[in-house]
Amino acid sequence: MPAPAAPSFMRPRQRMVDEQLRARGILDERVLAAMAMVPRHLFVDAALASRAYHDCSLPIGEGQTISQPYIVARMTQLLELGGGERVLEIGTGCGYQTAVLSRLCRRVYSIERIQSLHERARQNLRTARHANVMLKCGDGRLGWEEYAPFDAIIVTAGGFASDVWLTQIRVGGVLLMPEGEGGEHRLVRRRKLADGVEECYFDACTFVPLLDGVSHY
Ligand code: SAH
Repeated sequence: MPAPAAPSFMRPRQRMVDEQLRARGILDERVLAAMAMVPRHLFVDAALASRAYHDCSLPIGEGQTISQPYIVARMTQLLELGGGERVLEIGTGCGYQTAVLSRLCRRVYSIERIQSLHERARQNLRTARHANVMLKCGDGRLGWEEYAPFDAIIVTAGGFASDVWLTQIRVGGVLLMPEGEGGEHRLVRRRKLADGVEECYFDACTFVPLLDGVSHY
C-alpha cells in the first residue's frame, strides 16, 4: 500500500493569511500570495507542524524561534519589494523568512551565526524554487561585503544596528530591524539618502537577541 500523502496544510495556511494577515492590515497582495504559498510547516520540527500556522512564534532549536506569521508579513511588507531587489537577511534561522523573501525579490543573501541552524536552513531551502538564495554561516553584524551594495537589509534578531550595514546599502535602499534591548524592540526602517538617513518607527515586538560572533553548534 502506498504511504499516505503528507498533509499539505493548505487550509490552515489560507486561514492564516485571511485571519492573521489581511484582517490586520497586511494589504500587499504579493506578500499575501507569497505567504499563501510557502509551506511554513516544513520549516519547523515535524512535532510542531500542526502548530505552524498558529498566531505565534515557535522554537526552532538552539534557543531560537521562527517569527510569528504576522511579524514576517509586516516586515516583508515594510520592505516594499517590487521584484528586482537584492536583499540581505541577518538571522536565517530556519529559513522561513528567507523563503518568503525569495519569492518577492531577485536574490536573497542570508547569514546565520549558528552552524546547525544554517545547515538546517540549507536543507529546508534545497528546492529548485529557492535557486535565488545564498546562505552563509557567519556574524551578520559584518554584513556581506562581497555582494554589497544591497537594495535592502532585513535583520530578524533584535538589538542595535551595526555600523557597516548602512555602508552596504545603496542610496535609496532600506535597513529594517527590531531595535532595542532586553526583549523589547520596535521595528525601525532607515532609508539611506544621498545626504543622510530617513527614519520611521513601527510596531513594538519581541525578538531573540542579535549576538556577536559565530557558534559552531
Ligand atoms: N528569520 C528567521 C528568524 C530566526 S530568529 C526565521 O524565519 O526562522 C533570529 C536568528 O538570528 C537566530 O537564528 C539567531 O541565531 C540569528 N542571529 C542572531 N545574531 C546574529 C548575527 N550576529 N548574525 C547572524 N545571525 C544572527
